[in-house]
Amino acid sequence: MCILLTGLFNYLKIIPFCFTYFLLNFSFFGASKQDVPDKQADYNPAKSRYHPVNDACWTNGQMVPYLAVARTFEMIEDESARLKNIETLSNLLRSVICLSPGDLLPCIYLCLNRLGPAYEGLELGIGETILMKAVAQATGRQLDKIKAEAQEKGDLGLVAESSRSNQRTMFTPPKLTVTSVFNKLKEIAKMTGNASMNKKIDIIKGLFVACRCSEARYIARSLGGKLRIGLAELSVLAAIAQAVCLTPPGQEFPPAVIDASKGMSTEAKKAWIEEHALILKQTFCELPNYDAVIPALLKHGIKELPQHCHLTPGVPLKPMLAHPTKGVTEVLKRFEEAAFTCEYKYDGERAQVHILENGEVHIYSRNQESNTSKYPDIISRIPKVKKDSVKTCIIDSEAVAWDPQKKQIQPFQILTTRKRKDVEASEIKVQVCVYAFDMLYLNGESLVREPFSRRRQLLRESFQEVEGEFMFATYMDTSNTDEISEFLDQSIKDSCEGLMVKTLDQNATYEIAKRSHNWLKLKKDYLDGVGDTLDLVVIGAYLGKGKRTGKYGGFLLASYDEESEEYQTICKIGTGFTDEDLENHYNFLKDYVIDGPRSYYRWDSAAQPDHWFEPMQVWEVKCADLSISPVHKAAVGLVEDEKGISLRFPRFLRIRDDKKPEEATNSYQVL
Ligand code: AMP
Repeated sequence: MCILLTGLFNYLKIIPFCFTYFLLNFSFFGASKQDVPDKQADYNPAKSRYHPVNDACWTNGQMVPYLAVARTFEMIEDESARLKNIETLSNLLRSVICLSPGDLLPCIYLCLNRLGPAYEGLELGIGETILMKAVAQATGRQLDKIKAEAQEKGDLGLVAESSRSNQRTMFTPPKLTVTSVFNKLKEIAKMTGNASMNKKIDIIKGLFVACRCSEARYIARSLGGKLRIGLAELSVLAAIAQAVCLTPPGQEFPPAVIDASKGMSTEAKKAWIEEHALILKQTFCELPNYDAVIPALLKHGIKELPQHCHLTPGVPLKPMLAHPTKGVTEVLKRFEEAAFTCEYKYDGERAQVHILENGEVHIYSRNQESNTSKYPDIISRIPKVKKDSVKTCIIDSEAVAWDPQKKQIQPFQILTTRKRKDVEASEIKVQVCVYAFDMLYLNGESLVREPFSRRRQLLRESFQEVEGEFMFATYMDTSNTDEISEFLDQSIKDSCEGLMVKTLDQNATYEIAKRSHNWLKLKKDYLDGVGDTLDLVVIGAYLGKGKRTGKYGGFLLASYDEESEEYQTICKIGTGFTDEDLENHYNFLKDYVIDGPRSYYRWDSAAQPDHWFEPMQVWEVKCADLSISPVHKAAVGLVEDEKGISLRFPRFLRIRDDKKPEEATNSYQVL
């Protein structure tokens, strides 16, 4: 009896133990014991009068939990007001600045879904198949079921979040932190080759198994390459500025200043934050590298930032863009009394040429990607064309295809036949000539705040022309309408696209990263078209009939909306294609067919294509006019609630290989 009682006692004793063991060791991915409401799961950065220490869900010196970021994304995704979203993100960042400043950089990269500066080229974008496999393996669900659910929901993130695991794990995985997730994402992106597939799945599985609440949703989307919470980079920069204004970095803990705007009126606070946001944005345009800007911001504060971060040869800056105009009269009206110059607008590829202190030459594209290995020919001729006085510099130019026999410019299409990477100088078939038009940096000095007349003079003093290799952009300083018209005609005869008209002295600084009115473009096409051409993304196609059987007969195009991160349809297109174009488009696009439209496509069933595509390619399109459309969705909500804008008589011009889908014409430009 005694033995029996002791046995029973022992048995009872282990029940609570077993229970705890069960709770600890049977992880339910997305709904584990950790889902019991706790401070992290309830974290609310959208709270009014947010306190960066008391309302945070971690404590001083701890690593920022990834759940804090995921909760912030949730709030932002559910809210459409941009200013509110900036405030929500800034609240998270204020807590990070106070409690774990070392995590600020990875936090910002996670918000932007980036792994480093664009020019380093490390990118996410894991294929859906791998992601689905990882979700299946992490949750023990069947791949078919995951596929079907992803198809239905149109978002693998939501599928990952709602999937429940019934697999045992021996140990509860540690909670995810911002740093651990960021490092894993980096590790995955660095893996190359087919053999890396299983390793990638293993890491992704490891991440998924450790996920709580909505974490899986955002990890899946990050891995896929799109966060889709509607937060553009400019909003992230605004949130960083707001955070450092309100809760200045570098304070002892507990921080004495929690909200530096206390006592200010709403208007005064707004103006004060905007003034500081501008400093950050301008600095970032000159040095688009968070690895450098964020540590400097933490160390020196926002006011001092420009003293520590400036233009640096070797770091590509965002290029100045031009505003379209409809004709010579509009140019004169816009510039009024200001002196201006007209330059040939060359039809090639933008080339930002950097000469570094150690003599290296780097070349960057319009979107800050490295083209250094594409143009060994340009690099080798730089020592010959630069004067000895030039030690370091950055010049802005256009690389144009050149026919050395006929000594003339060749069409843009010829340039596109050049290999894009790792070109051997001896293999080059298409020669290029560099047409230099601006100088942004010279011997340690930034010139972006200097007027164009001075920048142009310095450029011409610092380099010498060699025909067919390095030339200065042809220009004419005039404000005579007839002369401008004649010069425009001449530019077309000389195989250019038209003119770039630039202010010389007044309002003539190098305006980084915006479509400034200091540069106007005047293309021959504009005069009989709608103004400018549009760069649109192909998201669907219609199967061809008659002569086009076996190929696509028409395509569905979309513009990009930066705020909502949506592709919004703008027209069907079926003209402007040669037979060869149609053949090429079919061969390229067939590899990107997807089962159905992405959840971030805005479209109407009246335009339903036969095939949907991944957003991969950008096409330049000309049209006769724009109209309000009940079918198409470009800029929807900006003109009318339900109607968008569509193109009339669109015509295909060419593929824009130098633009990514997110760089397509955006809703505001369409508007
Ligand atoms: P778009 O791509 O139509 O907005 O036109 C702007 C582009 O024209 C720039 O990004 C340059 O690549 C190119 N371009 C050609 N010639 C010039 C020039 N003289 N000045 C500035 N940009 C030029």
